[in-house]
Amino acid sequence: MKRRNFLTGLAALGAIPHLGGGAEDVRETRAGAPTSVKITNVEVLQVTGRKNRKALYLKVQTDEGAAGLYGPIDNEAALFVDRFFKRSLIGQDPLAYGAYWDKMFRASRHSRGSHYLIGLSAVDNALWDLRGRLLGLPVYRLLGGSRNKVRAYASCLGFSQEPSALQAKVRELKQQGYRHQKWFVRDRGPAYGPEGVQKDVQVVRLAREAAGDDVDLMFDAFWKWDLQYALAWARRAEQYNPRWIEEPFQTADLDAFIEFSRETSIPVATGEHFYGRWDVHKFLKADAIMVVQADPEWCGGVSELVKICTLASVHGVNVIPHGHSLHAAMHVVASQPVEVCPLVEYLIQKMSGYYDFEKHRPRPVEGMLELPDRPGFGIELDESRIEDIRPVSWQQG
Ligand SMILES: [Mg+2]
Repeated sequence: MKRRNFLTGLAALGAIPHLGGGAEDVRETRAGAPTSVKITNVEVLQVTGRKNRKALYLKVQTDEGAAGLYGPIDNEAALFVDRFFKRSLIGQDPLAYGAYWDKMFRASRHSRGSHYLIGLSAVDNALWDLRGRLLGLPVYRLLGGSRNKVRAYASCLGFSQEPSALQAKVRELKQQGYRHQKWFVRDRGPAYGPEGVQKDVQVVRLAREAAGDDVDLMFDAFWKWDLQYALAWARRAEQYNPRWIEEPFQTADLDAFIEFSRETSIPVATGEHFYGRWDVHKFLKADAIMVVQADPEWCGGVSELVKICTLASVHGVNVIPHGHSLHAAMHVVASQPVEVCPLVEYLIQKMSGYYDFEKHRPRPVEGMLELPDRPGFGIELDESRIEDIRPVSWQQG
């Protein structure tokens, strides 16, 4: 549909729940608690803006009139939703989510990982939004949360590591109120030998010098290292007191995580490539990590991340979700005790344009993210930034 018709189209699609009947639907269903709700349609919406910028959102419509909306979602998630999950969702009761998740996890021999779980995560998150709109509550409140603000850490992917630029950015972020910053040591690794280790230790030293002792510093190796390189780095980096070293190895290499954790005092973090609670359990029972970074858009959704938080709490380990995105992560963190979930990752460069199509873009103030009081995740598309919106499909024939 073209721009002149898109407002009508948006309202018809229910993609802007605050427009017209959308908000009334929420009020009506809140007053009359829904006892019988059925999903009537599932659509992947492609939103296009200026300069042909695009994003995908998942919309789940019910016979109550209320609709769940979640996004932006990954292309792969969209494909799996459309080709696999959509059919199973029509006619489902969106309030009966536990049984549905379990059924779908058992429905595919490939369900243990990767894009299947990413697709199921999108469905799970859209259903949480839908339940929030049906009941008139934000997701973190539905989950039993009481914190309406969560602390964010500055994730510094993409910033210059030239010494003076790095130190200036560390100071600037500290001034903005970030008490926690994560820097990246992903450009080198075993092939660079001792010189690589020296440069990766230098990143830590420069950051600590600029930050002082009252800022937590974390480092992310993007699974580029091996055990020997990691140990050489850790022996020299320990003196700068990092809060954690993230993904030194590929998630598949559990033995390396176990060995490394035994040998260093620096807490080890990983988990953005965990799919389901079972991956997490393997690492926790082996004492392989101190920080679980499962991503609610990849690990199985809000429902699965909450289970992972319970598991981590038993082991005395933090869950600090990967910051691929924010809506689901910040609501789960706000729903949990601060001792379990102390932080949300805020990828500064990525997030600066990630929510361009939304009216309320999560943005930390003084290092804190405020939870919305709107129902669900509080996502509202911003018509002034949208040129075109339409359902897309990968169905054949
Ligand atoms: Mg990472």
